[in-house]
Amino acid sequence: MQYFEVILENGHIGAGNSYEAKRYIAGTDILSVISKVKFLPRIKKRHTIEAVKSIKQITRKEYLRGKIESLKHPHLFRVWDGYRCPICGERFRDIFSFRRHVEKYGAHLAHAI
Ligand SMILES: [Zn+2]
Repeated sequence: MQYFEVILENGHIGAGNSYEAKRYIAGTDILSVISKVKFLPRIKKRHTIEAVKSIKQITRKEYLRGKIESLKHPHLFRVWDGYRCPICGERFRDIFSFRRHVEKYGAHLAHAI
């Protein structure tokens, strides 16, 4: 498994916070990561590679750290009917149950580092 930090040009960028455009994705190789990015929500140019500004290979440690950070930004995982857990795929109607659910991953992943 390889780990990548993906920077999205058309990602949701709030109030000068460039962090929000970063995604952390694991895949067998860079091509599998590119195909996963195409199906992420919140990419305007969903069908083009232009949505990806850069892809950088990172270590597993950096990947886990990035994942934990991204769980603090629930809007990244917004879907039409609520929020979708990026780890297990479970859906939540509201932000409170999503937050409660991902908290356990934060604790778990912190141990893995
Ligand atoms: Zn989950």
